[in-house]
Amino acid sequence: MQRTLKAPIHCTGAGLHSNAKVSMTLGPAAPGTGVVFRRTDLATDAGIEAHHDNIVDSRLCTTIGNGNGLSVGTIEHLMAAFAGCGVDNAIVELTGAEVPIMDGSARAFVFLIECAGIVEQNAPRRAIQVLKDISVGNENRWASISPAQNFSLHCEIVFDHHAIGAQSFDYDSRLSSFEDELSSARTFCLAADVEEMRAAGLALGGSLDNAVVIGEHGLLNDEGLRFETEFARHKALDLIGDLSLAGAPLLAHVESHCAGHAMNHQLLDALLDDGTAWCWTDTDADGAERMDAAVQVRLAVAAAST
Ligand SMILES: [Zn+2]
Repeated sequence: MQRTLKAPIHCTGAGLHSNAKVSMTLGPAAPGTGVVFRRTDLATDAGIEAHHDNIVDSRLCTTIGNGNGLSVGTIEHLMAAFAGCGVDNAIVELTGAEVPIMDGSARAFVFLIECAGIVEQNAPRRAIQVLKDISVGNENRWASISPAQNFSLHCEIVFDHHAIGAQSFDYDSRLSSFEDELSSARTFCLAADVEEMRAAGLALGGSLDNAVVIGEHGLLNDEGLRFETEFARHKALDLIGDLSLAGAPLLAHVESHCAGHAMNHQLLDALLDDGTAWCWTDTDADGAERMDAAVQVRLAVAAAST
């Protein structure tokens, strides 16, 4: 069944890119709503649905907007928390243009969601069954998605810096714990890139309290890493947050190699814009998937050809 929050819950923090202080309230929403963002600092009740059609910027974070100047940025870690906690419907009210960065991971958002509590709603959850292989990118950076019966991913990164190097992370929605394995992986950057980002008006709120920063000789954060593969895990967290803009859970295996937000969005667009690449799947009250016979045949053919 679809799920939402039991009660509203509130936090405050600063935006990673804007450095603006912002208050945020996560609240329940009716079945079928999805995740909708509202800006309470503006004289409008208009909401922005967290949907790939509404993505307006992919530079270093994911920003959605309604095309009339109303936008909300850095939504990806909060969206990953909703997806990881299995929350389908929520209203997110913000007093500014950016979701607070908190500690640079999704841990605080998972904590808020757990404190608010989650309730099942009287409506079945739909999932998006991927039906064929789709790839985007080139030989250096790419992302691909293929049919599967649940959600899993394999995420690889390669950085020309000894403190990061090449690392990968695998996640399977049936076997892995989002909370334990992914939610606390923090965002990261190279100290050498900070000046350039700031000149572009980005990362103005970035600090060692909300990002892992790698200097020439290694980590600048005294406390060290939370996981040996924290960098790859954070990329997997971003990927889950970005893919949740499909508007429903994906039944698919995703692979990503040195991809970022822009490529994650490109993959989602390539998938969802191709009407033959996916279909809706209902899950009934017993958790059994209802899929029509034609789709089952197409999936079997896809499985046989790989
Ligand atoms: Zn991130």
